[in-house]
Amino acid sequence: MSKGKILSTLPSVDELLNHKEILTLVQEVPRRVVVNEIRRSIENYRKKILQIDETSLNTFKIDIEEIIYNIISNSHKFMRMNLREVINGTGTVLHTNLGRSLLSNTIKDEIWDIASGYSTLEIDVSTGKRGSRYSHVTEIIKFLTGAEDALVVNNNAAAVMLVLSTMAKNKEVIVSRGELVEIGGSFRVPDVMEQSGAKLVDIGTTNKTHLWDYENAIGENTAAFLKVHTSNYKILGFTDSVSVKDLVDLGKKNNVPVIEDLGSGVLVDLQKYGLTHEPTVQESVAAGADIVTFSGDKLLGGPQAGIIVGKKCFIDKMKKNPLTRAFRIDKLTMAALEATLKLYLDEENAIKNIPTLRMLTESLDSIKKRTNVLYEMISSKGLDLEVNISSDYSEVGGGSLPLEKLPTCTLTLKSKSISVSQLENKLRKYSRPIFTRVQDDRVIIDLRTIKQEQYEIIVQALVEVMK
Ligand SMILES: *Cc1c(COP(=O)(O)O)cnc(C)c1O
Repeated sequence: MSKGKILSTLPSVDELLNHKEILTLVQEVPRRVVVNEIRRSIENYRKKILQIDETSLNTFKIDIEEIIYNIISNSHKFMRMNLREVINGTGTVLHTNLGRSLLSNTIKDEIWDIASGYSTLEIDVSTGKRGSRYSHVTEIIKFLTGAEDALVVNNNAAAVMLVLSTMAKNKEVIVSRGELVEIGGSFRVPDVMEQSGAKLVDIGTTNKTHLWDYENAIGENTAAFLKVHTSNYKILGFTDSVSVKDLVDLGKKNNVPVIEDLGSGVLVDLQKYGLTHEPTVQESVAAGADIVTFSGDKLLGGPQAGIIVGKKCFIDKMKKNPLTRAFRIDKLTMAALEATLKLYLDEENAIKNIPTLRMLTESLDSIKKRTNVLYEMISSKGLDLEVNISSDYSEVGGGSLPLEKLPTCTLTLKSKSISVSQLENKLRKYSRPIFTRVQDDRVIIDLRTIKQEQYEIIVQALVEVMK
């Protein structure tokens, strides 16, 4: 048979629409979605036919069952949310690709009320006049950090850009070479600086920068000193950098403001909970930094946001910068941020109810207990799986505390019938995707980042995967 002949036997859209199974499908899935998938299916089949080589033409048969199966499964796939919840079994708490911080269950209503109703977003209730959307969190941020004023934008990258554009456009900003970081997702300090219109003056060396390096670089065009927290790496060994405090003293003498990009905005002293000390926002403010910027969804544990705190005279100027409008934060984010910050008014409450902090500070004992529960649940199914409990380390992630190794307890899985990479792959493609780690020829599930209500789903997934 010729290709033309085969093509002419392809079913038409109408024929397929009248197929019994498609008639059933149209009861559940909007007709336009089904028609779209039918068209795509026919088109794919047409391409397939055009690609077959002449020798196999005679034996080629159009497989209607396959076409129907694809239409049904793709129509359902099209209807499903593409952005959906997954299970994070990697143990990496701030997993940027899996959405960084999880919001607290306790603030659901606060967010939904603002999302689904009119709100005080930009109105002053006492006067009935226009208000500022930024005002809702100003007081609490000032209270928690000790800063004079605050402003919130979309993310920390935007915050840094806004700060530099406002304070240093067409002027020079002095930065240590050891702090010219790339954060990932193409946030590079030199690039951000160029975009903002500030001119970078890099000083010192990769491993050592001294106070006199800053002092020698001051010129009539100097707008600021910028300190960048090297969030995602550490330089160890023969190193030296200048503290914010010393920089502030030097800045005061020379009338140069100090900007600090903290990266992660920690509001509690993590050392109290057994982690490495991470400079807090309060410490930077107390040391006298004129402007401090940090993320809302790293160690703070809130929604994606960039928070700017510091001297009112600078923040007032930022509010007038047109970039502020371009970087403005949405009401959903504002609600989530305000509600998360309220949890910090009682530190114990914050540790208990902010998932990022809870996961980072969960004791090894507690993780062990939870691992045992899941172990028993899986074992009771009698699957063709070798399940073991093992000791390991979780990571903080999100470019925060890069050297921190959090002792944890994991489940390790191995099957005789499928390979480790197949097992990992199938779990990831499960209807509720489950992300794991592969290590030492085992699939590793770290319970630190898994919620109790997800155990049953994991067991069910393993049952289906091992069928
Ligand atoms: C993460 C980070 C940023 C970028 O923050 P986003 O909120 O992801 O935009 C900027 N600077 C530093 C030092 C960081 O660690």
